[in-house]
Amino acid sequence: QVESPYQVILLDTVKTLLRKRSKFSHKGTFGHALLVGGSYGKMGAITMSAHAALRAGVGLLTVQVPKTGYNILQTAVPEAMVLTDDHDLHLSQFPDELNKYQCIGIGPGLGQAEDSRLALESLFRQKLPPLVLDADALNLLASDRLLRQQLPPDTILTPHPKEFERLTGPAIDDFHRLQLLQSFCAEHACYVILKGAHTCIGTPSGEFYFNTTGNPGMATGGTGDVLTGILTSLRAQGCPALETCFLGVYLHGLAGDIAAEAEGETSLIASDLYKYLGAAFQRLS
Ligand code: AMP
Ligand code: MG
Repeated sequence: QVESPYQVILLDTVKTLLRKRSKFSHKGTFGHALLVGGSYGKMGAITMSAHAALRAGVGLLTVQVPKTGYNILQTAVPEAMVLTDDHDLHLSQFPDELNKYQCIGIGPGLGQAEDSRLALESLFRQKLPPLVLDADALNLLASDRLLRQQLPPDTILTPHPKEFERLTGPAIDDFHRLQLLQSFCAEHACYVILKGAHTCIGTPSGEFYFNTTGNPGMATGGTGDVLTGILTSLRAQGCPALETCFLGVYLHGLAGDIAAEAEGETSLIASDLYKYLGAAFQRLS
C-alpha cells in the first residue's frame, strides 16, 4: 500500500493536541507573545489578531503598533501591553529585547513601507523566537528575494492564494499550486498555511494536510487576521510548529462553524471568530 502524501485534519487528531491547564499554572506558564502590525487606517487587523491571541490562551500579550495606534490598541484590548514604534504611521523598527517572547506574529495591517521592509531585514539577522508571518509581512517578503532567503527556518506563513502566488509565481491549476507549495516549504524549511475553502498546510518535509472545518461565512475581511493571532498564541504557549498549524486552522474553522450556527453565514464577521473561539476549544475538550 502506497502512503498518500495528502492527509486531512480530523477532530480525533486535534483533540489529542490540546493540553489541560494544571491547577498550579500561572500566566508565565502560557508564554508571552508579541504581535506586530497596524498602520494608519488599518488598526482593526492587528486589534483582531490581539483579541484572538488572548482567546487562544496566551499568558501575556504585547502588541507593537505605530504611534497612531496607541490609544486604539489600549482602549480596544485592555488585556494587552502596548509598545509604540518611533514612527507615527507604520512599523520602522522592532523592539530591542526579543528573547522574552516565545513567538512573534507579524503582518496584520502592517502596510508595505520601505522602513518596514528594512526592519524585517534587520530582524531576520538576529537570533529569534519562532515567527508567524501574514498579510503585508508576506507581501514584503514577496517583493525581496534576498529577504526570502534569510527567512528563519520553522517559520509559519499564512498566505491566501494571491499572497501565495506573489511569493511563488503564478499557479496554472490546483495541482501546480500544491507543487509550488511543496517546493517553497522545502526550500525555506518553513510551514505554509495556504488559506481558502480547503486550507492546506505544507511542511518542510513535503507533506500536505487539508483542514476540514470552516464555511463560506468566513469569506469576509479580517478572518485571516484572527488566524494569525490564534497561531501566534499557540506557538508562544510552547506548541510545536506543525501542531500549532493543525490546532490553529481547525479551531479557527470550528469557531467559524459555531459562529455560522449562531449568526448565519451572511452576517458572520471576523470578530465573531474570537467571540466563539472559547466554544470551539470546549468542543475539543
Ligand atoms: P484572509 O484572506 O487573510 O482574510 O483569510 C481568510 C480566512 O477565511 C482564511 O482562514 C480562509 O481559510 C477562510 N475562508 C475564506 N473563505 C472561505 C470559505 N469559502 N470557506 C472556508 N473558509 C474560508
Ligand atoms: Mg489576510
